[in-house]
Amino acid sequence: MTAQPFLPFALPDIGDDEIAEVVDTLKSGWITTGPKAKRFEQAFAEFLGDPQIECIAVNSATAGLHLALEAIGLGPGDEVITTTHTFTATAEVVRYLGADVKLVDIDPATLNIDIAAIEAAITPRTKAILPVHYAGLAVDMLAILDIARRHGLRVVEDAAHALPTTLEKELIGTLGSDAAVFSFYANKTMTTGEGGMLVTRNPELAKRARIMRLHGMSRDAFDRFTAKVPSWYYEIVAPGFKYNLTDIAAALGLHQLKRVRAFQQRREQIAERFNEAFADLPLILPPQAPEGDTHAWHLYVVRLADDAPIDRDAFIEGMFAAGIGCSVHYVPLHLHPYWRDRYGLTPEQFPRSQKAYERTVSLPLYTAMSDGDVERVVTAVRSLLA
Ligand SMILES: *Cc1c(COP(=O)(O)O)cnc(C)c1O
Repeated sequence: MTAQPFLPFALPDIGDDEIAEVVDTLKSGWITTGPKAKRFEQAFAEFLGDPQIECIAVNSATAGLHLALEAIGLGPGDEVITTTHTFTATAEVVRYLGADVKLVDIDPATLNIDIAAIEAAITPRTKAILPVHYAGLAVDMLAILDIARRHGLRVVEDAAHALPTTLEKELIGTLGSDAAVFSFYANKTMTTGEGGMLVTRNPELAKRARIMRLHGMSRDAFDRFTAKVPSWYYEIVAPGFKYNLTDIAAALGLHQLKRVRAFQQRREQIAERFNEAFADLPLILPPQAPEGDTHAWHLYVVRLADDAPIDRDAFIEGMFAAGIGCSVHYVPLHLHPYWRDRYGLTPEQFPRSQKAYERTVSLPLYTAMSDGDVERVVTAVRSLLA
């Protein structure tokens, strides 16, 4: 048998329409933020299907989270509650603003933030809750919004995995938090290379985020005094950031967004094939979305059961030897030197995240995989564990 090429853990799925749109942008003379970024924002709002929603395109989800937290007035002395079982971007934005992060443990069934742990972590300094829809499965937002209402807290969702996730048939981003932020990083459920979208129904938050997205520039002050604003005029009202999405990236986004439903269906089909093929193995399979709801299947995360014949590291090595890339989502934040040392964190404080971490593997699951690629993964996993 000839050796098969290496199957990477993730690959983007870029079609001819995306390529043609990028070429059109390059030839148009308008390569930074312009008409296509605006169209992309409008298309995203239409996708979410809520005319009250404002969409603000940014150059990463990290930037969008930073803007959302800045716009709610987060600052030194404040605390934000989030999950330890996430990527550092979720939490680092809190530190950008001089506020502190209160990491909490997860629900072992969903690997999402534990709702009871949120409530237990609230102090007089708590300003916001920052949940993550881990792997593309919705967090119980109704419970989180209820806690926030009862304690007077803000909610900003890290929706980096959650397009097009639903909860009670409503798309994430439309559930009534202060803001939700999607990621279009290369390995997410749709991509603009680098990019993100901040969505909010709060007009004040949207206005502040738009100003801070581009250097703190505003034309509103002038508007109030004259009917006609010269095109060259602007005022700086704050030391803003450089977080705008380029039209080159938006060109990709316009076409990727049209494919998001089809992408989700293909991801779900692969997940179902894995679920069926692995049902008899010593694995904890990923949790399903509730009946009638959509799992975005950004990640397919399995956990090795107590009676598995090999440990996680040996499993990943075995997959690699079979020519298949795997990953781990995530090395929890409490294990990273920065977070561990700043807050004096130990694994004993996060027993569920710790146990999940020691056993989890993310298998390749992406739309550019052929059926043959999917079967290669099935065969490799079965030969290691069956
Ligand atoms: C990818 C990711 C981010 C950051 O997204 P960028 O667009 O790369 O900034 C934030 N949070 C989570 C959970 C992610 O997976």
